[in-house]
Amino acid sequence: LEQQLRQAQKMEAIGQLAGGIAHDFNNLLSVIIGYGNLAQMKMDADDPLKCNLDQIIAAAEKAAQLTKGLLAFSRKQEMKQQPVELNGLIESVTKILKRVIGEDIQLETSFHEGTLFINGDSGQIDQVLMNLATNARDAMPDGGKFTVSTALQEIEDSFIAMHGFGKPGAYALINVSDSGKGMDQHTLQNIFDPFFTTKEVGKGTGLGMSIVYGIVTQHNGYIKVYSEPDIGTTFRLYLPLIEDNQVEEAKLSPALPRGGT
Ligand code: ADP
Repeated sequence: LEQQLRQAQKMEAIGQLAGGIAHDFNNLLSVIIGYGNLAQMKMDADDPLKCNLDQIIAAAEKAAQLTKGLLAFSRKQEMKQQPVELNGLIESVTKILKRVIGEDIQLETSFHEGTLFINGDSGQIDQVLMNLATNARDAMPDGGKFTVSTALQEIEDSFIAMHGFGKPGAYALINVSDSGKGMDQHTLQNIFDPFFTTKEVGKGTGLGMSIVYGIVTQHNGYIKVYSEPDIGTTFRLYLPLIEDNQVEEAKLSPALPRGGT
């Protein structure tokens, strides 16, 4: 439990630091991009400096993408609050997930038989799944299996006592597993830190999992990771379900797509 607490404090501290820096950086980058665009407009199309300027702007835009990732981690990004049905959401992104993992990796899905409504931002949950799929792909260069499943998890006192985390309530559980190369202890301990990566320079930013962490905690959820070298990795995402009456309302709402493939 003490370790859980220390981890939470560490993430909080990194989040505040990263969020502050990212916020200021974002403003500075807007200035670079803004004035860059202005200069671009004033330049003749055949100006020999135009190509340099284009590159400056492209790099600044890339940097802005990175800082956006940091903002997501530090929970400083705005979040939509809407009823989201997770089975439908996952079903509707399977095509994209398949494209991310490629043909050598098999995608398997299984769903809790009832609906699973949470309050949140479907775009951000999409992003979580994409980031997890990207890492799974990188962990299985020779192919393998990628599994996404959902379940209903009641968190009770006995669960909290056993696992050392959680607040009582009903949760949607998203299980994401791969049969990839797994992680050593050091990676496991730092996986959610921004900029922590074991990938080659240029291949990884080290932001994927910190974004996942930020999004899950912003949804008042929990994320746990279990991994064994050469066997694979499992992520468990617990997201609080919305109250029954809200669920009923959400079910009746025609605006909710239950995407299918
Ligand atoms: P990046 O993917 O850019 O390196 P992430 O924050 O997404 O950054 O991941 C951090 C590190 O965590 C990765 O470099 C990798 O070592 C490890 N990791 C994440 N997901 C997995 C996975 N499914 N299997 C094995 N290692 C993983």
